[in-house]
Amino acid sequence: MDVSRETDILICGAGAAGLTLAVDLARRGVSFRLIDRLDGPFAGSRGKGIQPRTQEIFEDLGVIDRLAAEGGPYPPQRAYRDDGAHDDTQGIAMSPPTVDEPYRAPLLVPQSRTEAVLRDRLAEWGHRPDYASRLTAFVDDGEGVRAHVTGAGGEQVVRCRYLIGADGGRSFVRHALEVGFPGKTLGMRAMVADIVLDGLEPTVWHRFHEGDMQRQISFCPLPHCDLFQLQAPIPFDGAADLSVDGIQAFIDARLPPGAIRVRAVRWASDYAMNARLADHYRVGRVFLVGDAAHIHPPTGGQGLNTSVQDAYNLGWKLGAVLAGAPAALLDTYEEERRPIAAGMLGLSTHLLERARQGEMRRGREVHQLDLGYRGSSLSLDRGGDPHRLMAGDRMPDAVLRGAGGQARRLFDLMAGPHWTLLLGAGAAPVAPRDGVRAWRVGLGGALPDGGDLSGLEAGGCVLVRPDGYVGARLAAGEMGGLAAYLAAVSVPF
Ligand SMILES: Cc1cc2nc3c(=O)[nH]c(=O)nc-3n(C[C@H](O)[C@H](O)[C@H](O)COP(=O)(O)OP(=O)(O)OC[C@H]3O[C@@H](n4cnc5c(N)ncnc54)[C@H](O)[C@@H]3O)c2cc1C
Repeated sequence: MDVSRETDILICGAGAAGLTLAVDLARRGVSFRLIDRLDGPFAGSRGKGIQPRTQEIFEDLGVIDRLAAEGGPYPPQRAYRDDGAHDDTQGIAMSPPTVDEPYRAPLLVPQSRTEAVLRDRLAEWGHRPDYASRLTAFVDDGEGVRAHVTGAGGEQVVRCRYLIGADGGRSFVRHALEVGFPGKTLGMRAMVADIVLDGLEPTVWHRFHEGDMQRQISFCPLPHCDLFQLQAPIPFDGAADLSVDGIQAFIDARLPPGAIRVRAVRWASDYAMNARLADHYRVGRVFLVGDAAHIHPPTGGQGLNTSVQDAYNLGWKLGAVLAGAPAALLDTYEEERRPIAAGMLGLSTHLLERARQGEMRRGREVHQLDLGYRGSSLSLDRGGDPHRLMAGDRMPDAVLRGAGGQARRLFDLMAGPHWTLLLGAGAAPVAPRDGVRAWRVGLGGALPDGGDLSGLEAGGCVLVRPDGYVGARLAAGEMGGLAAYLAAVSVPF
């Protein structure tokens, strides 16, 4: 047995959550290993909706343009009536970008391509997932975690400071921790398959028998390829036949036989829908992220997005604590992310009920732009009058102007692993410190024209966390609180 492997973080699971965390840690220079029990990358389209808030995160992680090139906009939905007539609607809320919300429509990207883009980004720092490596046991001794990993070369013991269970809905890590996973089985199973077919044009999302759980079936064309993603409820009992012939028979039982001809099945899966939330996201030095912590129906396309955002919330906190910030910072991961997942479970279950009644429209509520952490112990609001922007809110983008009059996007200033401190005109000077980039906004500052920046008042400041949420908003008379806040969350002076 090889016991020589040491690392700061061991990430178990190279799905969307594990890869996002790995990219964030890589850009922070944190040492980690990323393992997955699969022999190679996951191949299916499964979670294909990248919501606007996740697009902002992927911009920060340097992958949004590649993802946009791999994906495309959601096609209109074509709902067929029993007489063969149909109505085309754009059931997904899509609005043009604004200055403060640069992404306002979900992007359709098959999950396997999202993960491939994240792997490519990771490779730019010299990292890659170790496939065929399964976590089989671990012990947290208070000082670190000894993890047993079985791979082609036998068993290794990996000594790490923190273990992350990003190992999906059936999480081994969650089971080993004996963390409860209460919730309910929703009495519904579904098939999802990537198929090549004849008989449908690839410009719309074809939906048949909406609201009829016995016959409902849909075919969504996937961008830049000849595949459709088939989704349909299936009987609760019995195994689904996911072969070409099996899927052909399944379609023929719902549509006029021969109307659609299945040519190939590239990937297929069947699953029971559940809505469950882990009782804890952290036990000692072990954390749960993504589907390991919450599972729910796919309606509304929230799962992958919530998983990515879990990882994005945890990444900077792990980086800060490993660099010397107080360990209590890590407790805020569960404090902040568990309520978000609880809300998301309610939303996706509600959308499932509406889908059962044939209602497929999705509004802004699935974009995740309005989620935040106002009630968090990390949100310090002493900004004077209640403002549209408060501590805990997502920091909106803005266009400011530099000394030469050049436009500077706030998201560009925030991009990277640092904190961003925006000082209002006349605010007391703040000593430079590691990991905090300060900008004085207003006359005489580096950014003389604050444009339509929200929340910042003369003499005060807005401190934006590395994950793009307002950590602190302080009025002119409250600036003394800044140093204490930074010491609690960041590397000491
Ligand atoms: C039909 C369908 C449609 C969906 N549509 C959407 C959508 O539009 N938008 C959206 O946001 N979400 C959607 N989802 C949900 C989304 O696919 C999941 O939420 C997402 O995959 C969760 O990512 P994850 O990284 O947490 O887990 P996973 O993707 O499940 O990854 C977990 C990884 O851990 C590995 N692993 C497990 N155990 C071990 C072990 N012991 N050792 C090592 N590795 C291990 C697994 O091999 C796997 O690669 C959909 C899901 C389905 C089924």
